[in-house]
Amino acid sequence: MPTFTVYKGSKEGKIVKSETTKGDLQNDQVLVRVTASGLCGTDEHFKSADMVLGHEGAGVVEETGPNVNDLKKGDRVGWGYQHDCCGNCDYCLSGRETYCSKRQMYGYADRDQGSFASHAVWREAFLFKIPEGLSDSDAAPLMCGGATVFNALHTYGIKPTDRVGVMGVGGLGHLAIQFAARMGCDVVVFSGTEGKKEEAIKLGAKEFIAMKGKDKIDISRKVDALLVTSSVSPDWKLMLPIMAPTGKIFPLTVDSGDFKIPHMGLVGNGLTVQGLVVAARSVHRHMLEFAALHDIKPIVMEFPMTEDGITDAMSVLRDGKMRYRGVLKPQ
Ligand SMILES: [Zn+2]
Ligand SMILES: [Zn+2]
Repeated sequence: MPTFTVYKGSKEGKIVKSETTKGDLQNDQVLVRVTASGLCGTDEHFKSADMVLGHEGAGVVEETGPNVNDLKKGDRVGWGYQHDCCGNCDYCLSGRETYCSKRQMYGYADRDQGSFASHAVWREAFLFKIPEGLSDSDAAPLMCGGATVFNALHTYGIKPTDRVGVMGVGGLGHLAIQFAARMGCDVVVFSGTEGKKEEAIKLGAKEFIAMKGKDKIDISRKVDALLVTSSVSPDWKLMLPIMAPTGKIFPLTVDSGDFKIPHMGLVGNGLTVQGLVVAARSVHRHMLEFAALHDIKPIVMEFPMTEDGITDAMSVLRDGKMRYRGVLKPQ
């Protein structure tokens, strides 16, 4: 019966240290000791909930259940937003298990554990081996942020000949630039000011556009796929004219409000607005292999995995000062 330390949200939005006890490992359950956890914008959404936070986990296998096939003690593994699914519906059988009606996702299921913790117990089927060449700190932010941006590029047919626009240079954006550039795409970045220009170009962008104060955008080539990773919704009157006809828009950040876009710009140019969640497991595995092969790594700021460390990291993220992903490390 493993008992371990966890860090939860609370009604007042304060981070609270607590303990979780799980039963003896059953079936394909694996006990993982957490060595690093990314901090995602979604964690901020749940900090007022009485639940364990964190869903960009990386760690080491400590113990395995009786029906674990592949993983063994000492293996490095990570996990993300999804913990389980039915395994038998159309979505599960066709590699779209992220849309299974019985999917178990962060925030809604297994709220007694997460990656802001000393340990966690997950099914082997939802753990990902971390390739050599990626440290635990490198791998953790890929488990949600990396998987989300890669899913947009990989699953929806973006081609190396396409121009990819990345809106916002933050946790997701700085990974999206790297993935799209390594896939061979021509990357243009849209950001508020010139502040992150040098970094964006270094990460692989070919063009950088500072949006502040603009009422029209001059662009050298129109955008076939736009990944919106900024926390504020774009001004579509500005953005639609720079979309290539039949282009795709991917709103990747979560917002509780409505998604509004001018009819004419959307219909007249045959644009697609594509919703998506994190990657299905097969895509997630490809993402990790691709990142290791092409040396794609998050730029991280490390914080201690303590109540104060988590509180600090969350306030840096809230203030827009994270460069570019927060990673919590046990002391
Ligand atoms: Zn996330
Ligand atoms: Zn299913």
